[in-house]
Amino acid sequence: MTNVDLASLVRNVPDFPIPGIQFKDITTLISNGSAFQQVITTLADRYRPLGIDAVVGIESRGFIFSAPLALELKVGLVPVRKPGKLPADTYQIEYALEYGTSKLEIHRDAFVPGARVIVIDDLLATGGTISAATQLIEQAGARVIELAFVIELAFLNGRDKLEGYPVYSLIQY
Ligand code: AMP
Repeated sequence: MTNVDLASLVRNVPDFPIPGIQFKDITTLISNGSAFQQVITTLADRYRPLGIDAVVGIESRGFIFSAPLALELKVGLVPVRKPGKLPADTYQIEYALEYGTSKLEIHRDAFVPGARVIVIDDLLATGGTISAATQLIEQAGARVIELAFVIELAFLNGRDKLEGYPVYSLIQY
């Protein structure tokens, strides 16, 4: 497998979406076919031996990575979505972001009881999003085996909010 320098393909956009935020843009990574493939292959190789029942993707950039990963692992994909998007009965949670607050939802019947899942999002910042998602996933009856990110802003110490859960990331700042 080719070894692409993934970090060099992430574009830093200063002051987006608000002043002071250094936005890590993954569009410049996924537009490179070898890099995108390397991300998915690396994650699939890591999770294939673990007997995963489903991949959970966090709206919306998490979907970009969770769908090909689920296909590669030959398991289902469960979306965690922003409010009002999922049509059937949901669990909902409100949480704090690096910028602002938000809510997330999951279908109540998304999992078979005790399903072993990995959760993927594009980026770990403060950990608020993934921590909320993890609570929803457990409320819906699944077991979180690991939290995976393409990018981790390690200086924000998001891992501290995720005590007890294994965290894996491909690129760290
Ligand atoms: P957090 O809940 O603080 O861990 O924030 C994580 C979510 O916000 C992820 O879904 C990211 O897509 C987005 N996010 C937060 N900070 C950044 C950043 N500096 N660059 C790109 N995305 C970010």
